[in-house]
Amino acid sequence: MGFADPEKQRAYNKAWGEQNRDKQRAANNRCYAKNRAEILATRKRARELNRDARNEKQRTDEATAIRFKRSGVVVPSETLVRRRGPCDICSVVPAPGKVHHVDHDHASNRVRGILCVHCNHGLGHFRDSPSALRRAAEYVERASRDDFGTGEPA
Ligand SMILES: [Zn+2]
Repeated sequence: MGFADPEKQRAYNKAWGEQNRDKQRAANNRCYAKNRAEILATRKRARELNRDARNEKQRTDEATAIRFKRSGVVVPSETLVRRRGPCDICSVVPAPGKVHHVDHDHASNRVRGILCVHCNHGLGHFRDSPSALRRAAEYVERASRDDFGTGEPA
């Protein structure tokens, strides 16, 4: 039995794992024992891909894809390429040799876009809440007026 929608399956699996920690840990250990060689080879490959890039705080596209895939996030190759272009919110372009972050929805694991570090952290600080972000924008606009939004002369 399973879900036709892979995202629903992932959500179900995650919830089950959280409610059955001991069983989940035992299953993870069995899986690791069975696939140890492949898991270690994949980690080694990701490490090798990152070795040079790590010093520059930059990851290769393939290494980034591997890292995201481990947490259930599939990053399309065109999105990886877009990391070298403008931020989807503020349009700033990364410094030469640098890349922007791949932003994803932590609930659904879906990739949302490419963000600079400031915009990515900003969304996180506002708990990914559109209404909180709107209120923050209104607050900044109101507070930047001469009368601080009071209607009283400054
Ligand atoms: Zn930005």
